[in-house]
Amino acid sequence: MAQQEDVFKKIISHCKEYGFVFPSSDIYDGLGAVYDYGQNGVELKNNIKQYWWQSMVLLHENIVGIDAAIFMHPTTWKASGHVDAFNDPLIDNRDSKKRYRADVLIEDQLAKYDEKIDKEIAKAAKKYGDNFDEVQFRATNPRVLEHTQKRDALHERFAKALNDGNLEELRQIILDEEIVCPISGTRNWTEVRQFNLMFSTEMGSTADGASKIYLRPETAQGIFVNYLNVQKTGRMKLPFGIAQIGKAFRNEIVARQFIFRMREFEQMEMQFFVKPGTELQWFDTWKQTRMKWHQNLGFGAENYRFHDHDKLAHYANAATDIEFHMPFGFKEVEGIHSRTNFDLSQHSKYSGKKIEYFDPETNESYIPYVIETSIGVDRMFLSIMCHSYEEEQLPDGQTRTVLHLPAALAPVKLAVFPLTKKDGLPEKAQEIIRDLRFHFNCKYEEKDQIGKRYRRMDAIGCPYCVTVDQQTLQDNTVTLRDRDTMEQHRVNIADLQGIIEEKVSITTLLKNLQ
Ligand code: ATP
Repeated sequence: MAQQEDVFKKIISHCKEYGFVFPSSDIYDGLGAVYDYGQNGVELKNNIKQYWWQSMVLLHENIVGIDAAIFMHPTTWKASGHVDAFNDPLIDNRDSKKRYRADVLIEDQLAKYDEKIDKEIAKAAKKYGDNFDEVQFRATNPRVLEHTQKRDALHERFAKALNDGNLEELRQIILDEEIVCPISGTRNWTEVRQFNLMFSTEMGSTADGASKIYLRPETAQGIFVNYLNVQKTGRMKLPFGIAQIGKAFRNEIVARQFIFRMREFEQMEMQFFVKPGTELQWFDTWKQTRMKWHQNLGFGAENYRFHDHDKLAHYANAATDIEFHMPFGFKEVEGIHSRTNFDLSQHSKYSGKKIEYFDPETNESYIPYVIETSIGVDRMFLSIMCHSYEEEQLPDGQTRTVLHLPAALAPVKLAVFPLTKKDGLPEKAQEIIRDLRFHFNCKYEEKDQIGKRYRRMDAIGCPYCVTVDQQTLQDNTVTLRDRDTMEQHRVNIADLQGIIEEKVSITTLLKNLQ
């Protein structure tokens, strides 16, 4: 575990050193859980957004996009339930004065039981080799049975406390499980309290009668309040979806995991409107579709899992998370929710407008049901960084730090180097860039030895480097070097675009989804 934490720290400093992510207002020592994306980070982030947007809007005839404002009429948040219920249970440790989410402390405890079980299984698998029968071992090994029983009992108690909104019981679980504060090591806990996560501000001057408005805590409501506009102007027929990418804001209680939990972040959400009664089928379809989108990046199916919710939001009739194996465990990257017709009904009630769909096939009118897919751009960014980062031992005994980013998402696709700064080599290199920059992001580098330049490109995940040398001037060929294999081939300048584009284009990624 400590080793994994070390890796995570290295990834954070790598993000800063190579222009991916900086603390916000860095010269003033940062602002809690707010981050800026640097010159490479913004490119990676834009590519993630493009991959998502195109997979939704280009590949589905019945999904369209919108871009709603961050500020919304304050009644929106009353109707959606956020004013009254968008809370997290918080608890303080009196000795360290640190604040925690009570539910997260208990979830971490559950994960500890899982870890213990996994350890026993790994140990036995090693001992028995090919003869190991995991199902039988789980069913009979006394230590595994004991951990499983404790885990299941805790899980049941926790789910009930959450569903009942029983804050005292949450505290009691923390005490009974003897959960200590990781900083002070003590069990000197306060009561559990509810804390609303929405930021508010005022619109208009006080003299005019300023009104309290909120920074949206999710982008979804911008879609719901535009349902009628889009359905009518786009002449959309059910089932259809509306996609949106945009900023969301939450005053998170605990913000200690870099860009995993931020106070200002970005979401990519798609609301899919369906006929009532078909929603669970669509829920299943979207679960599979979204998992495929993730796995298409090539990080290995074993690094993803579904995690069904213990506590369904009051409006949901099914919900699951797609979790990714981060250095700090399996963590939610995306949520998929069957939200019934709760949001549209509420907005209809609070606005007094009829929000219904007339179904020409059955001649009935009804409020559509909704399946939502909701993914955080920043969490996706973090999962990609964590999986791509490697300190690779090379056969010659050296190490290199390399980001094995999926080529289609890499900030820079091609770096072009003149071998030396003379004999017209820089001019030839610039000429190559002049032609290729229309097709993908290229970078020119002439400083330092070629080896050092390769390392700098490896560190930002650039999939291809090209070196221009004396031979180039004679026969128009260059050396093309692959980031992952480090193999080099002599290729014609005229062939570069074709070779690289095939590998780095988002279109290639999208085609694999079909
Ligand atoms: P968590 O339980 O981790 O707080 P959540 O279940 O509240 O997350 P949702 O409301 O389902 O999250 O939001 C959908 C997605 O938005 C999440 O899967 C995540 O990727 C992203 N997200 C939510 N909160 C944050 C945050 N504070 N910082 C970064 N991304 C976030």
